[in-house]
Amino acid sequence: MNILISGASVAGPALAYWLRRHGHTPTVVEPARQVRDGGYAVDFRGEALDVLDRMGLLEQVRALDTHMGDAAMVDGDGNRYATLPAVIFAGDLEILKGDLTRILYEATRDDVEYVFGDSIASLEQDETGVRVTFARGEPRMFDLVVGADGLHSRTRELVFGPEEPFLRHLGIYTAIFNLDNYLGLENTGRLYTVPGKAANIFSARDNTEARAALHFVSDPLDYDRRDVEQHRRIVAEHFAGEGWEVPRLLKEMMSAEDFYFDANAQIVMDRWSEGRVVLLGDAGYCSGPTSGRGTSQALIGAYILAGELAEAGGDHAAAFTAYERQMRGYVTEHQQVGREGAERFFMDPPT
Ligand SMILES: Cc1cc2nc3c(=O)[nH]c(=O)nc-3n(C[C@H](O)[C@H](O)[C@H](O)COP(=O)(O)OP(=O)(O)OC[C@H]3O[C@@H](n4cnc5c(N)ncnc54)[C@H](O)[C@@H]3O)c2cc1C
Repeated sequence: MNILISGASVAGPALAYWLRRHGHTPTVVEPARQVRDGGYAVDFRGEALDVLDRMGLLEQVRALDTHMGDAAMVDGDGNRYATLPAVIFAGDLEILKGDLTRILYEATRDDVEYVFGDSIASLEQDETGVRVTFARGEPRMFDLVVGADGLHSRTRELVFGPEEPFLRHLGIYTAIFNLDNYLGLENTGRLYTVPGKAANIFSARDNTEARAALHFVSDPLDYDRRDVEQHRRIVAEHFAGEGWEVPRLLKEMMSAEDFYFDANAQIVMDRWSEGRVVLLGDAGYCSGPTSGRGTSQALIGAYILAGELAEAGGDHAAAFTAYERQMRGYVTEHQQVGREGAERFFMDPPT
């Protein structure tokens, strides 16, 4: 089958890999001009490592392990008052998300068509296939379309409608950005917490750089998701007047090139497919950063979806039903972890 996958991050390239192994012809479309490098660190737990192993990629991923050690919780003067064990925030294996994407892309690029700098504009399906128009390219027909385009999935919006009814806000906003490792951290991090806010810095890329994160509690905010300068201002306003390294971090944030800002949120849907279109990874069942399971879900979901399509021998409806049945319990459990993680995210500062 000719299968269009929207999104070239984790779920998309992983699915492309398995679809090729089962003899299908995947095409991956991604709005970014190339695979996204760097980014924040993601960790793997449990079965996702088995999937990487079955893909023959586990050693490559291990080679880029951040080897993060325990981190220190510090007060306003930078003095350690508690230790946060690495296993809590770095799982069984931790890697920069961009490194994982690159590995998945390199493993598939030779026999998968990647279309960068484009995205789906419209989808129209009938019993013979899906007619897809693109923001830039010519319209094309596909047998199936998979939305692996993340929390704010365009595919989901086109097929299921606006995200609001599916989005469960976890009450936290997060900004993450690159900066020099000016504290000289060696495979470790520093975390500073005040009620409802947390700032942290971790070393990255063999201590040659650092990543900072600023988290704050908030009800849903009204802002333009594409206006990065507005995002920086929102974060700066929330952290104005805070101590420790926060003033320096805010200054670094204002000019950081690799800057991420979003709500911590989940996607909760009672079904993940409609006809010939199916959702995969965060697009269908984001469990939120506080679950620490999103990457694993994306990898395992890709493996299961491709496996069920092969098993069903071309009956996509049967395959999608089986995929949902297999994934549902796993996702529900992780979404619970994500909600609980958000509730106890802001550890008490020292009294
Ligand atoms: C701050 C933070 C920390 C996290 N930490 C962890 C962790 O420690 N462990 C863990 O397991 N998970 C973690 N996660 C979650 C993890 O990053 C995601 O669950 C995982 O990346 C999901 O992969 P995905 O491929 O489904 O979606 P995404 O990685 O979100 O990728 C979506 C892709 O779709 C593309 N796209 C967007 N719009 C379109 C469009 N219109 N057309 C085509 N493509 C489009 C995007 O450019 C992107 O390439 C974290 C997430 C965040 C935000």
